[in-house]
Amino acid sequence: MKNRLTEELLSYKVLSGTPGLSVLTDEPMSNHSTFRIGGPADYFITPRSEEDLLFVLSKLKEFGERTLIIGKGSNVLFADEGYRGAVVCTSSLDRVIVNGSVITAECGASLTSVARQAARHSLSGLEFAFGIPGSVGGAVFMNAGAYGGEISSVTVKTKTIDPETFEIRIYEREEHEFGYRESVFRRTGDIILSTELCLTPGDAGEINGKMTDFLERRQQKQPLEFPSAGSVFKRCAGRFTGQMIEESGLKGLTVGGAQVSEKHAGFIINVGDATARDVLELIDIIKETVKTRFGCSLECELIYVS
Ligand SMILES: Cc1cc2nc3c(=O)[nH]c(=O)nc-3n(C[C@H](O)[C@H](O)[C@H](O)COP(=O)(O)OP(=O)(O)OC[C@H]3O[C@@H](n4cnc5c(N)ncnc54)[C@H](O)[C@@H]3O)c2cc1C
Repeated sequence: MKNRLTEELLSYKVLSGTPGLSVLTDEPMSNHSTFRIGGPADYFITPRSEEDLLFVLSKLKEFGERTLIIGKGSNVLFADEGYRGAVVCTSSLDRVIVNGSVITAECGASLTSVARQAARHSLSGLEFAFGIPGSVGGAVFMNAGAYGGEISSVTVKTKTIDPETFEIRIYEREEHEFGYRESVFRRTGDIILSTELCLTPGDAGEINGKMTDFLERRQQKQPLEFPSAGSVFKRCAGRFTGQMIEESGLKGLTVGGAQVSEKHAGFIINVGDATARDVLELIDIIKETVKTRFGCSLECELIYVS
C-alpha cells in the first residue's frame, strides 16, 4: 500500500512536471519541527502548488490515509512514535504578491519574510511578526501574536480547502472568529491556502526600526540558541506564564533532554536528544506546580501530535 501510494504520487510528479513535489516515507518528524523531536511519519509530502496539494489530498483520501498539514513545524510537538498517516508540509507554497497596501501570501510563506516584504514596500502592521519562525497558514490558524500585535488585526480574507469535500471557500474578515491564539480553522479543520493581509502605508525607517527592536528583544529574552517550540503555555488569567513558572522555582528543571529554559521560563528547550515523553512529563510538573502555587490551570499553546 505504501509503495502504491508513493508510486501514484511520484507518477503525478513526472506527468505534471512538478519537480518540487516531494514524497518521503518513514521520515523522522524531528527533521521538520523546530523542537527537533518526533518519530517517523509514514509519509512526508511537500506539494509545490495548490494543484499539487489538491491532487495529494485526493490521493490520501482515496487511500484512506490520515492527514496532517504543517507549515514550519514551530508550534507542534510530534510523538516519539511518529505519525501514522501523511504529514503534508506547505513550505513550498510560498508565493507572496504585494498590491498597494494588500499582501496576498500563500500559506507556506514565512511570516518573517512577509514582514520583511511589507517593510520593503513601506507597509506597517506586520512588524510584530518579524522573528516568529512560523508560516502564514500556521499564524492564521492560531492567531499568532507578539508585542501587542496579532495576525487577526491585519487579516481580511482567507482562502481554504475542505480536506473532505475539496470545496474551496473564502472566509471574510469577521468569519475568522479570531480570539486569543484561536481561529475558526481550529474547529473546521479547513486547510488554509492563502491569506490577504491589509496593511497601512507608513515610514520605512520607522517600520524597520520597530522590526529590529522586536528582533533584538527576542534575541535577548528567548533561548533561540536551543531547539524549542516557543512559549509552551497560553497566558492564564492575563498573567505572564513565564513569570509564574519562574516564581514557582522551576527554571532549569530538567527531565531527560527537556529543560525549563533559564533564560525564559515560558520556554521548554531541547538540550540534547529530548523525547516527546520528556517534554510532556515536564509540562505535567509545571502545570501541577503552578496550579498549587497560583491556582491557575495552564493551557498548552503547543500542539501535541500523535
Ligand atoms: C523561538 C520561537 C518563538 C516563537 N514566538 C512566537 C510568538 O512570538 N508569537 C506566537 O504567536 N507564536 C510564536 N511561536 C510559535 C509559532 O512560531 C507560531 O505559532 C506560528 O504561527 C506557527 O506556524 P507554523 O507554520 O510553524 O505552524 P505549525 O507548527 O506547522 O502548525 C501549527 C498548527 O497549525 C496548523 N496549520 C499549519 N499550517 C496550516 C494551514 N495551511 N492550514 C491549516 N492549518 C495549518 C497545523 O496543523 C498545526 O495544528 C514561536 C515559536 C518558536 C520556536
